[in-house]
Amino acid sequence: LSDVVGADHVRTDAASLQRYGQDALGIGHPPDLVLLPANTREIAAIARLCHEHRIPLVARGAGTGYTGGAVPTRGGVVVSMERLNRIIEIDEANLLAVVEPGVVTGDLQRAVESVGLFYPPDPASLETSSIGGNVAECAGGPRGFKYGNTRRYVLALEAVLPSGEVIETGSKAVKNVVGYDLTQLLVGSEGTLAIVTKVTLRLIPKPPVRATLMALFTDIQAAVDAVTGLIGRRIVPVTLELIDAEALIAVSAHVGREMAPSGTGAMLLVEVDGTQVAVDEEIDQVAHACRDVGAIRVVPAADDEERDRLWTTRRLISMALRSTGLLKINHDVVVPRGRVPELFSVLDELREEYRLKIVAFGHAGDGNIHVNLMIDPNDPDQRTRAKAAERVLFERVVALEGSISGEHGIGFAKAPYLPIELSPEEIALMKRVKGAFDPNGILNPGKIFP
Ligand SMILES: Cc1cc2nc3c(=O)[nH]c(=O)nc-3n(C[C@H](O)[C@H](O)[C@H](O)COP(=O)(O)OP(=O)(O)OC[C@H]3O[C@@H](n4cnc5c(N)ncnc54)[C@H](O)[C@@H]3O)c2cc1C
Repeated sequence: LSDVVGADHVRTDAASLQRYGQDALGIGHPPDLVLLPANTREIAAIARLCHEHRIPLVARGAGTGYTGGAVPTRGGVVVSMERLNRIIEIDEANLLAVVEPGVVTGDLQRAVESVGLFYPPDPASLETSSIGGNVAECAGGPRGFKYGNTRRYVLALEAVLPSGEVIETGSKAVKNVVGYDLTQLLVGSEGTLAIVTKVTLRLIPKPPVRATLMALFTDIQAAVDAVTGLIGRRIVPVTLELIDAEALIAVSAHVGREMAPSGTGAMLLVEVDGTQVAVDEEIDQVAHACRDVGAIRVVPAADDEERDRLWTTRRLISMALRSTGLLKINHDVVVPRGRVPELFSVLDELREEYRLKIVAFGHAGDGNIHVNLMIDPNDPDQRTRAKAAERVLFERVVALEGSISGEHGIGFAKAPYLPIELSPEEIALMKRVKGAFDPNGILNPGKIFP
């Protein structure tokens, strides 16, 4: 393996093994070896050796995943994409970009925006996460309601199979119905089927204007009614971020001042984009939809500075929760939009029954709510209660016709819960697909399946 990548690109020191043995979940098993290949040929050679000798092989992007996806469960080799970080081509005529998997999402966005184009997927981790990791997790973000998640933008892939063969799926053409859609099968496959080495992404023209509005409500139901109202007006905002009272309290405590008047039960942050005429009309309609359901306060942003101020609360949530010193167990459950209030009722029940602090916020347009169980990591009783609450949460979400993960994936963290959502037949079929790609089971073992 050292011959394949060159000795300079092999890591075996304790600090590296520890670093590459964790992602944002914060737990995992260190690899035995970390390799930093430079190209597809080297990755193919690594895969061939691991396949032959049955060594676990785990692809890693930036390690910002929340489910332990990039972290070995039993040691083996981690192959990091950090040297495959070139934007190969921005094709303005065909509205697409060809990139290596290690390109940082935000860098790609800035590069395409500099020529008037737009790559919409915007995970909150975009300043660090990689396109390869976004593809493998099918990452989403606040703009998902209008623009969809990563899947919608992936046209073609180059990927290394666990046996070392290189495949090219899809094409640069925007239409393609030849055979099974292997491109979309690999999107969201969490590095368990193949290692992605090149990504062709669809781009769109950059919307010229956007407008932002913040509204406060007495409760979640009113905020969701506002969302329903504006969809009834046939408005599709870019973002529709919902923040609950617990999150508002946490941010207020963090910054040392009230982010919303007392009695506020929910905050909505709405952003629309498009031409000036459309944006003016739509933001006006959004304000009406909020007032119609009795919003306590409706604040449009007059300029970029005000927009930035309105986003402060949303931007500070993660930091505010971290500064509590509590462990944040983050879930990204999703329910049909109209059932979001029922989801919040479930959270109230869990708070009471399991005596837990639960903070929720997320993408109201998609029904994708980030539910954070906040526990004292040194209190085993709280851990046990959180574990029990987690299972009930997933069961209730599925009963609400939702899903246990909208964008973070399963990794090893949620693998035990897969049967709550998928039937034995579906799981068996997925395992046969996995076996067809990876007969020796070397690629990212211990992930997705219980
Ligand atoms: C502060 C914070 C905010 C976040 N916000 C969001 C959000 O808004 N929306 C969202 O969707 N996610 C969010 N995430 C989660 C995370 O950033 C995403 O899942 C992201 O897509 C992971 O990218 P990564 O490069 O860090 O991948 P990694 O964590 O390195 O890997 C993730 C998975 O992808 C696989 N993988 C990586 N590269 C490849 C490759 N080239 N080929 C095959 N498999 C590969 C790995 O094996 C692993 O299974 C957030 C995370 C943090 C820490």
